[in-house]
Amino acid sequence: MIESRLQRLMVLQSAQFLDCVALMPGPNLRYLTGLTMHVSERPTLALFPRQGPPTLILPVLEAQSLPTDLRSEMQLFPYSDEQGPQDAFQVAAAALGLAGKRIGVEFLQMRVMELRRLEQAAPDCQILAIEAFLQELRSCKDASELEQMRRAIHITEDALLTTMDRVCPGQTEEEIAAELRMAMLRAGAEEVPFVLVVAGPRTASPHAGPSSRPVEPGDVLIVDCGAVSGGYTADITRTFAIGEVPPELKRVYEVVRAANEAGRAAVRPGATAQEVDRATRRVITEAGYGEYFVHRTGHGLGLEVHEPPYIVEGNAEVLQPGMAFTVEPGVYIPGLGGVRIEDDVVVTSAGVETLTTYPRELRSL
Ligand code: ZN
Ligand code: ZN
Repeated sequence: MIESRLQRLMVLQSAQFLDCVALMPGPNLRYLTGLTMHVSERPTLALFPRQGPPTLILPVLEAQSLPTDLRSEMQLFPYSDEQGPQDAFQVAAAALGLAGKRIGVEFLQMRVMELRRLEQAAPDCQILAIEAFLQELRSCKDASELEQMRRAIHITEDALLTTMDRVCPGQTEEEIAAELRMAMLRAGAEEVPFVLVVAGPRTASPHAGPSSRPVEPGDVLIVDCGAVSGGYTADITRTFAIGEVPPELKRVYEVVRAANEAGRAAVRPGATAQEVDRATRRVITEAGYGEYFVHRTGHGLGLEVHEPPYIVEGNAEVLQPGMAFTVEPGVYIPGLGGVRIEDDVVVTSAGVETLTTYPRELRSL
């Protein structure tokens, strides 16, 4: 259990006048306790009272596989399949005195099943959304988190290097994606949550996924992928050329590369998230492609692939050392194609460190 993180949770809980925080398995629970359980049809719910040890309602079979240190640090309320979970909910809620209290839950994680059981066990409780302040808790990464991010990035870049060397015309986007996924797993990825490989005119759509279309000379090829290490995700995009690409796409490539560089150069403690977005957008707009840069500049990165801070106009959040996020400007021209170059950065006390190192020059395959 990570004591300092629990301390920070309690401080925030007091500030929000919350008597208890109820968490489902997911990134926030992992962050606070190290628990990596998955959501299943058998409810698991962790309760963090403002004082006293965290409490865990869980299936008996999960309780048996809990690490011993967690077993001693948490108050456990296991239930068997025969008993069902409701008694465990009742006893835990009574032990914590939750009736009529203010309970914070994650609206994006909790299911109706857990919510109903909790409300039944804690009559007249008030349920409040806590996403915003839990994410705030996670926004500055410590050294151990950055180490995992570096490892995730290393695995991803290693796999990209070996896979892209072997790409040739005739291979389909899906085949390239499958090889890249396999290479990341071989290099030690715990999971590979996403691999986007898109070529040719479909690159004009920023969210297109891999298809069975073979890549052809003259195509641009966008590869966007990330491996997970210790729960932390890498997120990198590179755009390649298959043989010789149209001159306009080469021009667009250099504009996006300059925008990526300008965005990273704008990162420093004290700058705001929107200033980074303005820095990339200025380069692209001045080159005449502003209307084709159709998404925000980036997003925070950590236990989730998308988390705060969002690097977008309108976000005046001040950047602080330890914040990790992507810088990923792109230009997408219908009928012609798209270019995106995405790097992962962390704010340092002196400025910025770019964690991704894969070359940014246009590589022809
Ligand atoms: Zn990405
Ligand atoms: Zn991204």
